[in-house]
Amino acid sequence: MIDSMKAVYDEVVTRDPGQKVFHQAVHEVLETIADVAALPKYSGASILQRIVEPERQIMFRVPWVDDAGNVQVNRGYRVEFNSALGPYKGGLRFHPTVNLGVIKFLGFEQVFKNALTGLGIGGGKGGSDFDPHGRSDGEVMRFCQSFMTELYRHIGDHTDVPAGDIGVGGREIGYMFGQYKRITNRFEAGVLTGKGTGWGGSYGRTEATGYGAVFFTERMLDRKGKSLDGQRVVVSGSGNVAIYAAQKAQQLGAHVVAFSDSSGYVVDEQGVDVDLLREVKEVQRGRVADYVAGRPGAKLHTEGSVWDVPCTIALPCATQNELDESHARTLVDNGVLAVAEGANMPCTPEAVEVFQAAGISFGPGKAANAGGVATSALEMQQNASREQWSFDKTVAKLEIVMTNIHDNVARTAEQHGAAGNYVLGANVAGFVQVADSMLAHGVV
Ligand code: GLU
Repeated sequence: MIDSMKAVYDEVVTRDPGQKVFHQAVHEVLETIADVAALPKYSGASILQRIVEPERQIMFRVPWVDDAGNVQVNRGYRVEFNSALGPYKGGLRFHPTVNLGVIKFLGFEQVFKNALTGLGIGGGKGGSDFDPHGRSDGEVMRFCQSFMTELYRHIGDHTDVPAGDIGVGGREIGYMFGQYKRITNRFEAGVLTGKGTGWGGSYGRTEATGYGAVFFTERMLDRKGKSLDGQRVVVSGSGNVAIYAAQKAQQLGAHVVAFSDSSGYVVDEQGVDVDLLREVKEVQRGRVADYVAGRPGAKLHTEGSVWDVPCTIALPCATQNELDESHARTLVDNGVLAVAEGANMPCTPEAVEVFQAAGISFGPGKAANAGGVATSALEMQQNASREQWSFDKTVAKLEIVMTNIHDNVARTAEQHGAAGNYVLGANVAGFVQVADSMLAHGVV
């Protein structure tokens, strides 16, 4: 990293020494945008120093009563990172690993990702260390109501528009929307996205992140004269990103053979039964073992990693840093052609280096998983015009957005002498868009 970038990075680390994943996300960006960020128009206005510092960070207590009558206390977060391009936009994550550093890393990624969509959305992220697993619907509802009782004062359809992330799906968005509506006495549809399709949600939002990652993969393959047809695909995770990545890959002729959750991974050589997986995960809220119980021939593995399963396409759709250098080497040895991040930063920096050195097409999350938030922006458009588009119309728009992101990122990489480096292309293209708007707005 060149000296001027290193100085910015060191200051980030000194300010918040414990926020490792945030440092990792900042490091990757600074490393790839140096020649652009060093231009006098940006450096003279301290754009870098401003872009790594969130505009606002909110932390609050979330007290709630569990089914046994005990008072529980969690911590809530909303990091409003950058509003140069539009209202803060990004999901809420409910998971025991959530802390301020995790939310800052996710918010930082979101700034660049949202810029790449071209849909006029700033970046933010939030969540809580609350763990919805094993909690009753009543407990989840009371938690969501308490969370929104503080959050409502910070959000709004022109201010900050949260959505889902890990642990936050349609159920949680419903409870939070209900509480927002009750407190404010406003049916403000555009304040949250990922709503139910019966009350202001967009068709295709649930599928969008997974579908988008597969559309992005298709474009990367196409650039190399290949297609998804006949490819052998492994996804990690089994949440909505993984499920719908598997579904779209199958629709495009690929053979999806494995998925995972924190209890292990499943290999299903007949091809994953997406309807069964949806039933197990979305309806029963079960574990991958429940899939195996209903699927003769599928095998559950509790040792090793899903990345040991040979494949030509790898779609990490679980969580940050789930795929490390040794996994990457295994994938390369097994003949992987393309890797696209359905989750946020699932590959470690060392893993990314292995893929790039081996000439594997690597789509970073900022570009490859932007389909979810892009469709959230389409949901905001529908809410603003009081319309609801069909599933097919929405997915067709998503596909155009993903193609544009791919082409913009690929072109930017080429223009900077790094053809095929989607990490550099995404960071530079996202940075320029945000930085130019920040310049136009003056020192704010
Ligand atoms: N949590 C998703 C992401 O990482 C979606 C955010 C949204 O729809 O606002 O991009």
